[in-house]
This record gives sequence, structure tokens and C-alpha cells, in this order.
Amino acid sequence: MASLPLIALDGPSGVGKSTTAKRVAAELGWDYLDTGAMYRSVALAALRAKLTLADPDALERLLPGLELSQGGGRFELNGEDVSEAIRAPEVTALVSPLSADPRVRDTLVAQQRRIGGRGRFVVDGRDIGTVVFPEACCKVFLTASVQARAHRRFLELQAKGLPSDESEVARDLAARDLTDSTRAVAPLRKAEGAWELDSSALNLDEVVKTIVAHHLAHGGAQA
Ligand code: C5P
Repeated sequence: MASLPLIALDGPSGVGKSTTAKRVAAELGWDYLDTGAMYRSVALAALRAKLTLADPDALERLLPGLELSQGGGRFELNGEDVSEAIRAPEVTALVSPLSADPRVRDTLVAQQRRIGGRGRFVVDGRDIGTVVFPEACCKVFLTASVQARAHRRFLELQAKGLPSDESEVARDLAARDLTDSTRAVAPLRKAEGAWELDSSALNLDEVVKTIVAHHLAHGGAQA
């Protein structure tokens, strides 16, 4: 399989993929594609359209009218900046069931290949190394225990002045892990040839440094 100059960064919810991917991309001078934000944007549009997943045609009506774009850490849906709106709890609750639909996945995977196909991108998600870019030169499967992820998320929410219950955060993460890893289409799993990094005991700087070093040591220096 041809090797594309791309870092595919997959892993479960709340493991810090987006922040890590952004920092790794900045270190390498590459671009960054947040595929979770794309699924979240579709979930936001579905909520706004009051779409019910039980209506088999509703998605077919919704998907062709959606124009998604991202740059500089901001996300747009049909020209509107939705960077904050896509993080709302209602969106987070809908995104996993919605992203299990093959029509949603086909639409977004095609867009992701168009955007990242030229290479020099760090792409984060759940199926990047397995489905979207199996030819990526570097595949990383970033993990951390549910407890470590819940604790980090709890601290983040606290810093934003949003009170939360750590055990509830852990339950939500575990539920999303289960939906994402047991769905029929493109389930979350470690890609063939992916390198697994357990970040439970590492801070962000250490994770970024380790991934960049791994990438450079495995042929990334030529990219
Ligand atoms: O990464 P983030 O938490 O923003 O992703 C939101 C949701 O989008 C995930 O829980 C998952 O259900 C879905 N997703 C996906 N495939 C991707 C990226 C995200 O199914 N490549």
C-alpha cells in the first residue's frame, strides 16, 4: 500500500486527540483535520432540523445541503461559525448514534479524503487508520483509562466554571466508547500497523513529544 505523509490519530472519546493532533501538526508545520467536529456538525444540523433517526429518508434530505469547513481551529456549517455550538451536551448525546449511520459516514469519509488526500495532515478520529487513510505513513492509537479521561474532562469543565460530576463524566465516556466500538460500520479499533500509546500517566507535552519522535523515527522525516 502506498504510504501517504499523514498522521492518523485514532482513539476513544476524551483521550485528548484533538489537542494532541493540533500540537503535533504545529510542530511538523502540517495541517490538522478534526473529523469529530465534522460528525458533530452533522449532529447539530440534525438537531436543528428536528430530524428523527427513525425516519429513514430524513438523513438523505439533510446531508446534501450541508457545507462543512474548518480552518484556524474554527468550524463552519453552511457559512455559520459553529465552533462552540458543536460542543453542546445535546450534540454530544446525538453524535455517536448518528455517526453509526453508513450514509453519514460515506458522506464525511469522502470529504475527509478530498481534504487530506494531498498529505501533510494530522487527522484525528475513530476510523482514520482503519478506513479513511489506511495508507497513512504513521498511525497512532491513543488510549487512556476511563478514569484518567474522566478526571481530565472533569478538570477542564471545572476550569471553565461548569460544575460536573466525575462519575457521570466517566459513565458518559464509557457509553460513547461502547457505541463507537460496537457499531457495524467503521467501529473504533486499533488499525493494522498502528502504534498504541497509553497516555494515562502522561501529560500533553509528553504525548506530543512522544508522537513526534515516533513519527520522525519511522520515516516521517522524509515527508
Ligand atoms: O472526537 P469527538 O469526540 O469530537 O467525536 C464525536 C463523535 O463523532 C464520536 O463519539 C464518534 O461517535 C464520532 N466520530 C466518528 N468517526 C470519526 C470521528 C468521530 O464516528 N472519525
